Amino acid sequence: MMHRRELLSGLAAAGLLAATGARADERPRVAITIDDFRFEDGPLISGDTRHHGILDALYFERIKAAGFVTGKHVGSAEARAHLESWAGSGHFVANHTFSHAYYGGAEPGDLGADIDRAADLIADLPTWRPWFRFPYLAEGRTAESRDLMRAVLDSRRLMNGHVTIDASDWYVNQRLLARLEKEPNADVMPYGAYLVRHLLDRAAFYDGLARAVLGRSPAHTLLIHHNLTTALFLPMVLKAFRDSGWVLIDADEAFADPVFASRPDVAPCSHSLIHQLAKADGRFGDRLRYPGEDGPYEAPAMDALGL
Ligand SMILES: [Zn+2]
Repeated sequence: MMHRRELLSGLAAAGLLAATGARADERPRVAITIDDFRFEDGPLISGDTRHHGILDALYFERIKAAGFVTGKHVGSAEARAHLESWAGSGHFVANHTFSHAYYGGAEPGDLGADIDRAADLIADLPTWRPWFRFPYLAEGRTAESRDLMRAVLDSRRLMNGHVTIDASDWYVNQRLLARLEKEPNADVMPYGAYLVRHLLDRAAFYDGLARAVLGRSPAHTLLIHHNLTTALFLPMVLKAFRDSGWVLIDADEAFADPVFASRPDVAPCSHSLIHQLAKADGRFGDRLRYPGEDGPYEAPAMDALGL
């Protein structure tokens, strides 16, 4: 009688494991997605240095990230040159509206026009992809509004560029900026250490929830922003994910996962895709919080650390 291990290795040799969808390698996978590209100069480093810091960190890991661009921040010739260097490095460019308006309210504006206005600025870039990410991950307050938004994307052949791992990197960045305003020579490294712990914590949470809901670990998309903390700490973040067993993958590989085609029946429709799927499932209410991520969740821990 054949032992299970022999059977599995035989199947693997025949390429049948892949065919059945079973993964010999169960390690979680994550792609980096960066929202709200901005290039103005800030404290410590210029916008140009920030951008190149992010590019260098991605190059070191040999991964291709997705940039979800807000049109109003990339209208200048200088910003265009930065987007071209991003695309020239093989990273993807996708749409995050022109205005970064909130589409989760009672009277959302014209999403289609907002998307088209941003598309005019980016759709000619060689690594443009038909992915769209909602500002604030807000996809409609009611089922009717949500379905109208989905129809707007469908009519433009855009796919929802969902986040699976949501987090509050923007809040850590905000706290660091406030600190530097008061104390320009403050030690920034404790903020990096906090950010790394926070992102790993949220990644573990959403991967655990995904495994419970889907019965598997999907290709994940981590949301971070084009800001100072990403420029300073992305190398630490990527190394920490690798050291914790995560496999860093390209954004196009992640978005090819069938989970991104799902359309959870939830309203209001917002948060990470995993949060939406868990809410729609109904069995995981005790593991969800509203909002899914926000600054106030991090404030006590950062206060206690003097950050
Ligand atoms: Zn945004």
